Amino acid sequence: MSLNESWRQRSLAAVWHPCTQMKLHAPEGAALPLVPVARAEGVWLHDHEGRRYLDAISSWWVNLFGHNHPGIRAALKDQLDQLDHVMLAGFTHGPVVELSERLATLTGLGHAFYGSDGASATEIALKMSAHHWRNAGRARKNRFVGVAGGYHGETVGALAVTDIALFREAYAPLVRLGATVPSPDARAATPGESAADVAERAATALADWLEAHHEDTAALIVEPLIQCAAGMAMHDPHYLRRARELCDRYDVHLVLDEIAVGFGRTGSLFAHEQAGIRADFLCLSKGLTGGTLPLSVVLTTDAVYAAFYDDQVARGFLHSHSYTGNPLACRAALATLDLFEQTDALRRNVATGDRLAALFEPLSQHARVQHARRQGMVFAWDVASSLPDFGRRYARHALEQGLVLRPIGRTLYAMPPYVINEEEGAFLARGALAALQATLAEEDGSAAKVEGARDGV
Ligand SMILES: *Cc1c(COP(=O)(O)O)cnc(C)c1O
Repeated sequence: MSLNESWRQRSLAAVWHPCTQMKLHAPEGAALPLVPVARAEGVWLHDHEGRRYLDAISSWWVNLFGHNHPGIRAALKDQLDQLDHVMLAGFTHGPVVELSERLATLTGLGHAFYGSDGASATEIALKMSAHHWRNAGRARKNRFVGVAGGYHGETVGALAVTDIALFREAYAPLVRLGATVPSPDARAATPGESAADVAERAATALADWLEAHHEDTAALIVEPLIQCAAGMAMHDPHYLRRARELCDRYDVHLVLDEIAVGFGRTGSLFAHEQAGIRADFLCLSKGLTGGTLPLSVVLTTDAVYAAFYDDQVARGFLHSHSYTGNPLACRAALATLDLFEQTDALRRNVATGDRLAALFEPLSQHARVQHARRQGMVFAWDVASSLPDFGRRYARHALEQGLVLRPIGRTLYAMPPYVINEEEGAFLARGALAALQATLAEEDGSAAKVEGARDGV
């Protein structure tokens, strides 16, 4: 048996893979092959037998500067020689202090609370918001409102504001559902309407909702500029400015979930900078460690912090995770911030993004592609396909092209590491188009077969 096949079989026997119907990996069906990865470098994932795949979605949106980056690797090795981990209650250490200081300088939010995953950041922000209002004598403000199609993680608390039926339905009885207001998704524009018009329309709906419900509402949670899990739904920054105004008017916290869009994906270090606003709570994870280790953080204001600062223990934020503020993860985050400075990454990404957009032009112009769109280093295309399993079929063809691309429904997207070079970009663009052609050929083939069958009748 080949090494790849051996790891595949052992994994399928022992590992329950995330967000996966395991039967789709079953050897009989093999609708989706499981890919064993031996090592990774730059934009490439290598299997055990000399095949490599370009990681065009940055391993679920976490990687920024390529895999196995020497700068981050060196920082981690150095940290490992000094301090592996210490609990953050009653103790502190250099990496967590420095990271908190640097994030405060970058965001204007001076208090950092750490978790391990994106979903735990969502939980922290929601709990902190409601507890803030309770401490302020307004305990009635304990409900949340999110945006249609929003995604904020999949733990039970986060599912309250994650508006994706497939992820939520089975757990509906467990979830204290939040409300949803219309999305500012620019694809909803009617002829003659601009993205800013759609944003204004969505903001008006938000205003109406808050007018009716603000007395019970602790916070609005928004993914700035791109609702990634909704299918790279992009919106005009006007929506964020209006959301900020409305939250101020109605005494509702604004939680900005930049878990996916933070750290340069949208062109600015943080997406909300493009609207010139500040959050009450800012959730970060994914790119925070450059894609090396799990770490999340919620940054908040002096005003929120002050509402917990008290002689009574119970008025404090009594929330914890065992690995809160892990020194290794914080060092990886510091090394990642260093890379932004050392490589002038945001400016370089403008050129990289423009080059990629030009390479993607044939895909964007494809007759079956709608809403070709881009925000910074995120590219997306909606494919007119009637295949119910378009995404899965496309992903399989992409692997055959040496690419990791996993469409969300019928939305194909690319979110490559920032270090992708010209040649790799061309490889990606060519393969993405070839995989599309192969997928559509299957669809047209099966349509032709149905036609043929009818002819036979
Ligand atoms: C991925 C993601 C989360 C959840 O993060 P996990 O680390 O997967 O728990 C939350 N919000 C957004 C916008 C995300 O993209």
